[in-house]
Amino acid sequence: MTTPRQQLIELLDRDAERMVRFLSEFLAKPSANPPGDTREATAFVADFLKAEQVPFRIVDPQPEMPNILGTFEAAGAGKHLVLNGHIDVFPAGDPADWQHDPWSGKIVDGRVWGRGATDMKAGTTASIMTYAYLYRFREHLKGKLTLTAVSDEETGGKWGTRYLLENHADEAKGDCVLNGEPSDPCAVRFAEKGTLRLTFTIRTPGAHGAYTHRSKNANRIAGHLMDRLDKLVDIPPAMPESVAAVVNRPESLAAADQAMGEGTSTIINKVTVNYGVLRGGLKVNMLPGTCVMEADIRLPVGTTRETVMAEIETILADFPEASVAVQEAASNPTSHSDPTHEMIALVQQAASELGRPRPEVICSLGATDCKHFRYHGVPAYVYGVPPGNMSMADESVAIADFLHVVKTHALAAFDYLSA
Ligand SMILES: [Zn+2]
Repeated sequence: MTTPRQQLIELLDRDAERMVRFLSEFLAKPSANPPGDTREATAFVADFLKAEQVPFRIVDPQPEMPNILGTFEAAGAGKHLVLNGHIDVFPAGDPADWQHDPWSGKIVDGRVWGRGATDMKAGTTASIMTYAYLYRFREHLKGKLTLTAVSDEETGGKWGTRYLLENHADEAKGDCVLNGEPSDPCAVRFAEKGTLRLTFTIRTPGAHGAYTHRSKNANRIAGHLMDRLDKLVDIPPAMPESVAAVVNRPESLAAADQAMGEGTSTIINKVTVNYGVLRGGLKVNMLPGTCVMEADIRLPVGTTRETVMAEIETILADFPEASVAVQEAASNPTSHSDPTHEMIALVQQAASELGRPRPEVICSLGATDCKHFRYHGVPAYVYGVPPGNMSMADESVAIADFLHVVKTHALAAFDYLSA
């Protein structure tokens, strides 16, 4: 006699083509953020959930950024698992740079193409399918399962995940979160770096371009300031013992390199600084009196904003022309969950059972909505497809990786709600 778990695996295999078609059509509903209007893509997901006859509703504090919130109770008492993914995606840039139209959802060469294929409509599809397919097995499960498919992730989550946690905690705040942001099947993520975004403004009197004796050059000062800020990378790590013990293992560092590119292991434990925007000067024959520089500083787990800002204040003492302001809405502390939580073992077990190497436990460089759950004390874990061309032209996902992640999510969730 086949067990319900085996039936689930068979059902997921049988419906593989249906899931690929869903992802393809989901990608063909543009949901770039900015501008962030996700109504068409959300309506597509809602139609699917309606057809599946699973409970859900739309929560839209911003009408153009609707969120999907669904919950069902299983047969017995148990734990509450929350599935989380985002519907909004990065802008596509110039379609001429793409081999296939970024909003085509084209299926070619064993891959599904389009903006958001890896970040993260593949992962959000894993959440949606897990919710819909586990609903059919609810008589065999315990506890509660919630789906949160949100908008407004790419711009911080104020109207998405954060809103749901603050206003619909009964549903959104579970015992554990599973999220399908790109991670690579070789890795499951339990922690992520923090973000500190700063705007530096450098002001000097400015002058005619031939009168270099009249004023310091604001652009030149920005250059010197960058040289000094580069040294922030030397701030000693302050990782909690429990986190360091996991992410500094050679296996974890190797998996981080595999998932996020060679060299990841050299910065995962360090502060990094990126000067993303530089605006200085008006005209080639004028000596610039103002330069504005925006820096994106990433904090390793354990390093606080206060530590970094103290260092920056010390540096700025040598730059009387410069001032700094924190971009509050875009700055967030680091976050981590228990690296020995049962969800990690369940994801590892499911992934291996489905024929992949056992995923390693790693820390993420980039930020996800998992941080909001962690700030609310809910352990949150990420398992997703390889990042591939995430945020670049020709973003695409291998069908095999996509289906593997869908099945891993469904099995790990099934097992979590069976225990
Ligand atoms: Zn994402």
